Amino acid sequence: MILENNFHFMQKVCAQNSEHKFEVTEEDLKFYEKMGVPVPTLCPRCRMQRRMVFRNERKLYHRKCDLTGKQMISMYMTESPYKIYHQSEWWSDKWDARDYGKDFDFSRPFFEQFAELAREVPRFSFYNKDSENSEYCNYATHVRNCYLVFGSSTAEDCFYSQTLVDKNSSVMDSFLCFSNELCYENNHTQNNYNSAYLLVSSSCLDSVFLYDCRRCKNCVFCHNLRGKENYLFNQPATPAEIAKVKNDLKSYEILAQAKERFYEMILREAMHKYLEGDKNENVSGQIIHNSKNVHQSYMIFDAEDIRYSFRVGRQKDSVDAEGCMEGELLYECMSTDSSYNCLFCMTCEYLSESFYADICYNSKNLFGCIGIKKGEYCILNKQYTKEEYEELVPKIIEHMKKTGEWGEFFPKELSPHAYNESVAQDYFPLKKTEALRLGFTWQEEDNTNRYEGPKIEIADQIEDVPDEITKKILTCESCGKNYKIIPQELNFYRKQGVPVPHKCFNCRHAERLSWHNFHTLYESHCTKCGKAFQTVYDPKKYKNVYCEKCYLESLD
Ligand SMILES: [Zn+2]
Ligand SMILES: [Zn+2]
Ligand SMILES: [Zn+2]
Repeated sequence: MILENNFHFMQKVCAQNSEHKFEVTEEDLKFYEKMGVPVPTLCPRCRMQRRMVFRNERKLYHRKCDLTGKQMISMYMTESPYKIYHQSEWWSDKWDARDYGKDFDFSRPFFEQFAELAREVPRFSFYNKDSENSEYCNYATHVRNCYLVFGSSTAEDCFYSQTLVDKNSSVMDSFLCFSNELCYENNHTQNNYNSAYLLVSSSCLDSVFLYDCRRCKNCVFCHNLRGKENYLFNQPATPAEIAKVKNDLKSYEILAQAKERFYEMILREAMHKYLEGDKNENVSGQIIHNSKNVHQSYMIFDAEDIRYSFRVGRQKDSVDAEGCMEGELLYECMSTDSSYNCLFCMTCEYLSESFYADICYNSKNLFGCIGIKKGEYCILNKQYTKEEYEELVPKIIEHMKKTGEWGEFFPKELSPHAYNESVAQDYFPLKKTEALRLGFTWQEEDNTNRYEGPKIEIADQIEDVPDEITKKILTCESCGKNYKIIPQELNFYRKQGVPVPHKCFNCRHAERLSWHNFHTLYESHCTKCGKAFQTVYDPKKYKNVYCEKCYLESLD
């Protein structure tokens, strides 16, 4: 429904949630025209959420390979009706996705036919490429000796982390880190060494609890510092005073209080640039680096002309991209790397000129295909000649316009993952009732192997924790689920003087993500000069949100 139509934009109401109003800009309209798609029916937020439900990064299961019968680790639940092959079998020449090809039936909707095909064509168990000794890592490439590391590349000896990029080593319990070493609980940080609890900080060493600090050494509980050494609470301190505070943090109880204090410091004392990121021109969203003309997008680097996108790098002229690296002209695509001119594609690489492709590689001119490797001119996995393909595709698009399917991403019902297994739950967390009300599916926890014995007490200080803890089943103090400590993890805690966590890996991960707002932009203004901007910082919550100029002037 168009409420308003003037020269610059039209305003629409989201078909998923009538409270979501969204603008379609002139640039959007030009893009939709170029890609041959109608104006979207869902708002950018609901479109992002719908794509994300198709990606499960962090929830792993044991199940049998449907080709060999061997037990394996899989991102598909044990009872999933889909055909799942161990990734080595999936990538082998033992089978061909074109053997599952179907004729297009013009008497039925496209998505119904696609859903049937999806139940038949094998899918890989999980995505773990060029890796070593890291079988519990998913959507991971070039990772070595890692455990429960997801959506990451080039990492070594890292544990319990997500989005590690560009050579991290010995990093534990962290999110969005570039080139850190020997770090714990870092969150959106770069080039740090031997540090813990750093948030939005870079090139720091031997430091703990820093927010927006750069090139600092041996600093604790500081914010917005540049090139400082031996600072405590933003004031100069002696190395002995700092050592005392660091030593106190070896206690779990004191650490818990420190976290509260750090949070208060960020909310009330720290200064925030309206948008985290550097070297940008004309951008809005959060965590954007070295980019131009990027709007309502989050975690973007080296990109140009991007809108409504998430976790995107080295990308040009793409709209609604999620988890896409190196490409151009993508629309409503997810986890599609090194690809060109693709619409509604997911988990693809080296793909071009394609529509509605799922797990397809090194291919072009595909429509509604699954699992094609090195293919061309296929529709519903059936091979056609170039002429046949070019004649049939426009007819299917016309058919989909009549069924109301054209221009929409895959319906959420087609996702092989439940809402709470998918990355949608990371970035748009929902309670079970809300998820079901919105039409998503929910995966109940399997409690059959739950530990019911006496609660294991954890010593307050790491030096009092015995080796046997790695054989015990611990109970998360937040969600009540079981978790374990692995020997490599215990070594790390001992070496770094970190107390054993009382919360499970999932609750720790959720806590790190809760620092970020990846979907709401507030119309706000600079606390100092009043300049208007869009920011993810809620003006009711954060005190000092500055425009770029005032921020730079105010740095000490
Ligand atoms: Zn919406
Ligand atoms: Zn928990
Ligand atoms: Zn200002």
